[in-house]
Amino acid sequence: MTNTPLTPAELNELVAGLNRMAHNLWWTWDQEAQEVFQELSPRSWQNLYHNAVAVLHEVSDYELRVRLQDHDFAQRVRGVLKSFEDYLNDKETWAHKHAPALHKNPVAYFSAEFGFHETLPIAAGGLGILAGDHAKSASDLGIGFAGISLFYREGYFQQAINQDNWQTEYYTLLNPKNLPIEPVLNAKGEPLVCSVEITMNEVFFQAWRVNVGRNPVYLLDTNRPENPQHFRDLTLRVYGGDSTTRIMQEVLLGVGGVRLLRALGVQPSTFHMNEGHAAFLTLELAREKMEKGKSFSEAMEATKKECIFTTHTPVEAGHDRFNQELMDYAMHKFFSHLKVPFTELMGLGRVNPNNSSEPFCMTVLALKASRAANGVSELHGEVSRHMWQSLYGVPTEKVPIGHITNGIHLLGWMKGPVRRFWRRRLALGKQGATAGDTSLLMRDYPNPTWDKEINSPEFWQRVGDPNFISDEEIWALRYKLRRELIEFARRRLLLQGQRNTSVDFIAFDQLLNPDALTIGFARRFATYKRAPLIFQQFENIVRLTRDRSRPIQFIFAGKAHPRDDDGKRYIQHIIHLSKYSDMQGHLVFIENYDVHVARQMVSGCDIWLNNPRRPLEASGTSGMKAGCHGCLNLSILDGWWREGYDGTNGFAIGTDAHADSVEEQDRIDSTNLFKALTEDVIPTFFDRDAKGLPKRWIQMVRRAMVTLVPQFTTRRMVKEYTEKYYVTK
Ligand SMILES: *Cc1c(COP(=O)(O)O)cnc(C)c1O
Repeated sequence: MTNTPLTPAELNELVAGLNRMAHNLWWTWDQEAQEVFQELSPRSWQNLYHNAVAVLHEVSDYELRVRLQDHDFAQRVRGVLKSFEDYLNDKETWAHKHAPALHKNPVAYFSAEFGFHETLPIAAGGLGILAGDHAKSASDLGIGFAGISLFYREGYFQQAINQDNWQTEYYTLLNPKNLPIEPVLNAKGEPLVCSVEITMNEVFFQAWRVNVGRNPVYLLDTNRPENPQHFRDLTLRVYGGDSTTRIMQEVLLGVGGVRLLRALGVQPSTFHMNEGHAAFLTLELAREKMEKGKSFSEAMEATKKECIFTTHTPVEAGHDRFNQELMDYAMHKFFSHLKVPFTELMGLGRVNPNNSSEPFCMTVLALKASRAANGVSELHGEVSRHMWQSLYGVPTEKVPIGHITNGIHLLGWMKGPVRRFWRRRLALGKQGATAGDTSLLMRDYPNPTWDKEINSPEFWQRVGDPNFISDEEIWALRYKLRRELIEFARRRLLLQGQRNTSVDFIAFDQLLNPDALTIGFARRFATYKRAPLIFQQFENIVRLTRDRSRPIQFIFAGKAHPRDDDGKRYIQHIIHLSKYSDMQGHLVFIENYDVHVARQMVSGCDIWLNNPRRPLEASGTSGMKAGCHGCLNLSILDGWWREGYDGTNGFAIGTDAHADSVEEQDRIDSTNLFKALTEDVIPTFFDRDAKGLPKRWIQMVRRAMVTLVPQFTTRRMVKEYTEKYYVTK
């Protein structure tokens, strides 16, 4: 049988469809969509870091049309495009039933950073990743949502380690044409330009739209010819420069974000501040109301009804504070429109408004100007109520700060083949299908309920049932993922070594052992996260790695803030150990931690190590990404793990208690860490039965999946935000 060639009209439709799909981040959490782009140019897909837009630029229009004459390929493209359109047009979403009012008046979600995917590096860490996952789940749930952030054309820094094992930073210029973003245009088809007052100046900005499934996230960009160079560079880098740059970026984010939404005709019902950076939006909302005749106090009162605020950290440096001179300098022109005494405005950011020596704190403004506020785990809610008690003058338990525990966007974080794996094993397909009946599931499409299903407790409940999946298969998955990580690490280390000739003595293909218990640690190198804690017991750890019958090994990654020399010293110390100590070959550091490295590590490691100084890890999310890949957590009982851990689904370091001093805490925690490792983790992993299977370990993996995976998702989290805070009764 021959297939009739596609007509020019059919080809046009497919080409247009592919372009539309490439400009919607939906493809970043759809395996089949990614495979279509990958197949178009496997090498570009890899070299351009999995960027669908850039791949489409790489392939000429002529080639694309020729390739689509491959009947099977065209069929797949059609299938994916149909699934994409079905997703966009679904009229039976969760929000349709539970939050229909948000379609007309959406939630406006302001965040200084968004971490969506490795192609768009505009996040510094967990805060941004969470914002990205929030946006994706808001789309999946069908919630009316518009995000606001900045377009950092040099993004967050890239990390390179120099000859002295010292972190250096470099920046690469992002080209909007090669990114999954689109310019926001006015009716004439030109960039829509708005402005904000910064210092004594009017600063102009345009915006880029990121299509996140059904919803937009707008990135504000001051790189306009109307502006002098220093304002054009305001949005150059994530949290770029000093506190002057910082406050100006925050004026743009808060005030500019509101103005952009107004220019687009968007009338949000709720303004959600993801961290205090965006809190100036409350002053713009008040200004609008004063323009219509309200007094300042009436305007602030009305503004408060529109806003909610999520605080993300008890770490002091995580709360922006600006002194009076800087406030006056940066906000002079904007404040002049408010016609309110400067000291009164300063008071909005002070715990004690009359204390003229207190700097202006963005968190304080956000708390004062919100109808509701929350922390990001149960313990963090409690810690935040203590922290801000003096602001309210009520007993701690009455402080109006609640909590919603963070989550992750499950489909976005699952490695592609793993999604397919679980689907084949666990999806029922349709009523009446039995376990192991995979005939229904040969293809991933069409199935509009897949997202709902994979987020449901019932789906993951089946991992606990050996009729659905055997120990052998779970163990096979673990081996495959560990090998993939080790091969990824070898490739990366080879590239790192080529840049740095001092390590060319390492034979890269023998680095790391595919049979070893592999322990991963990757996150920002903020000192409270204590990356090198485990090496406080150095001789003991070396001894463990040398045990040939029960080998263990470590993979580290993470960036220190460019001005955090203590964090950089931690990196230096770990890399030094990896190259020159008895740990060599059993410890590696992968440079340039980002979303892609994170996905490789949380999937391939057996143990995800988390040892922050309690209670400073407000939630933590990387450990949540481990669960669906069968990687187990070994963690201090801080943040989310204090809620997730139940004694059967992973490992705890220490107890639910605090030490008296930091030194004491570090000593106790490192002792407990070593104890958990030697008495629990290692014996369980290497306890093999007659068939060679670590039965108890696999049972723990099952328990982790059943209890953690469906619980710590942004699908659950965004539903909670919606029911508790977005939908006002
Ligand atoms: C998940 C993630 C984080 C946040 O991890 P924590 O455990 O909360 O520190 C930071 N950076 C990247 C790239 C991530 O993927």
